[in-house]
Amino acid sequence: MSLVRAYTATSPNAPLTPGTIERRELGPEDLLIDIAYTGVCHTDIHVARGDWGQVPYPLTVGHEIVGTVAAVGPEVTRYRVGDRVGVGCMVDSCRECAECRSGEEQYCLRGCTDTYGGLDRDGSMTQGGYSERIVVHEHFVLRVPDSIPLEKAAPLLCAGITTYSPLRKWNAGPGTKVAVVGLGGLGHMAVKFAHALGAEVTVLSQNLKKWEDGLRFGADHYHTTDDPAVFELLAGTFDLVINTVSASVDLNAHLNLLAVDGTLVNVGAPPEPAPVNVFGLILNRRSLSGSKIGGIAQTQEMLDFCAEHGIAPQIEVISADQVNEAWERVLASDARYRFVIDMATLSRH
Ligand code: NAP
Ligand code: ZN
Ligand code: ZN
Repeated sequence: MSLVRAYTATSPNAPLTPGTIERRELGPEDLLIDIAYTGVCHTDIHVARGDWGQVPYPLTVGHEIVGTVAAVGPEVTRYRVGDRVGVGCMVDSCRECAECRSGEEQYCLRGCTDTYGGLDRDGSMTQGGYSERIVVHEHFVLRVPDSIPLEKAAPLLCAGITTYSPLRKWNAGPGTKVAVVGLGGLGHMAVKFAHALGAEVTVLSQNLKKWEDGLRFGADHYHTTDDPAVFELLAGTFDLVINTVSASVDLNAHLNLLAVDGTLVNVGAPPEPAPVNVFGLILNRRSLSGSKIGGIAQTQEMLDFCAEHGIAPQIEVISADQVNEAWERVLASDARYRFVIDMATLSRH
């Protein structure tokens, strides 16, 4: 067991505070990673503030982790000390069930282990990436391509894979019309990926503040959901709508934007249940789905796709002591477009 510096949540309303957390000893197939940067995902806030249920305080969140390998267990085969690596939203799964065997560890039938707030195999609670080091089984570690700066790679480990995965699953590409609802951390990656895949991309945002950015990220069209006329104008238009909004939206209004056989995929995860009018589905054979991050193999594919296509998030690097302020800006939809914490600044505390 070793102690590492971390920023930690202790109650739903208190600011995160600096302190230390424990990391397990290196197992035979584990890597010790020196964390360079960790992205700030809206999920960190939902979880730490108890939006989704009881929180095992004290909890260190963060699941967009990048850094370099500092030590390897004796049976590690794929990584060496000094490699540039990433860790996303899960750090373990059974690796035996049908989902794990098909590379969809996030849907492990025995439940995958979340990077924070999950039950680790030694019975302890997992603690996330707002910290200076982490120990992870090599299967759940990704290789960061050399051409992607580490700080820009961090958000790919959650925001990147969570949007890339449904775009691939529902075949976004030339000839398809994709709408992205909400231009935040996930949303801006969805626009970049959908554009790179060749789809015609529309942003649906609460207002027009980020219009120029949206077009720069690759959107062909940009509308505000503030205007009811937009829902009339775009009714029946899209093959795929990716909803990334962290709060409840009117699902029926968004379902009505789908063409026949279109799919609305919810990746945004507000805590409240949402009423759905089944006639909106029946009449045009529309589908409503959800999607959770992506498997390890697909996460590597996404990182390599980013390297190949020159795709990276737009980020703002902050020091660890700015994280509470950054959370408030995320809650105000004011992130442009992902905060990334420079973990070297943790040593100031
Ligand atoms: P984010 O950066 O805060 O982006 C969310 C965007 O939603 C905002 O930028 C804003 O875009 C829009 N929005 C926020 N509040 C709204 C409201 N009241 N009404 C309408 N639009 C609103 O958050 P994120 O990190 O991208 O995460 C988004 C959601 O995805 C969160 O719920 C998170 O927990 C979830 N998530 C799910 C997965 C998964 O595996 N499914 C993975 C990661 C995250 P505009 O200003 O453009 O409207
Ligand atoms: Zn996340
Ligand atoms: Zn499994």
